[in-house]
Amino acid sequence: MPVPTLWTIDHHPCGHRVEHDLSGRAADRRAGFARWLSERACTDCWKAARDGDAASKEEWLAAKHAEEQRAAAEWSAQFDMPPLEGPEKALPWGERCRHQLVTAAHTALVAEGTWDDADWAVLEEKIRAVTRAGWWIDQRDADDSDLPELLDAAGESDLGTENPYR
Ligand SMILES: [Zn+2]
Repeated sequence: MPVPTLWTIDHHPCGHRVEHDLSGRAADRRAGFARWLSERACTDCWKAARDGDAASKEEWLAAKHAEEQRAAAEWSAQFDMPPLEGPEKALPWGERCRHQLVTAAHTALVAEGTWDDADWAVLEEKIRAVTRAGWWIDQRDADDSDLPELLDAAGESDLGTENPYR
């Protein structure tokens, strides 16, 4: 009697019974493959779990961004930061990047560093002068204490007329 090609498999993790066509496997491999399959959720359940994870991750990320956005907006109002300029969809991201980098720099330079409030006030003026959302997004991985140097560079390049990013 030939080894069957259609196998009815009980998927243990989800409890579903599904018929599988194992004709694509060599006859002596089917039993092993059927056992392997039985230890896994059926295709539908596996896909549902995968898509569910993706959806909840997206939701989590959206909630996290909304929270960061609220914090960034509060911070901008408190420190009198000007609105950013650039493509509509870059603005919220730019604001979050500016908020994160500037508050981290304040911690590094003033709270934990040697700067006093007067030093910071000078830097804050430079921060206010850079309103291009894309610039802040570009600096998102920058080291906190590099902000003064980065702002100086931004001031110089923004004065030039040959900057292709303007
Ligand atoms: Zn299932």
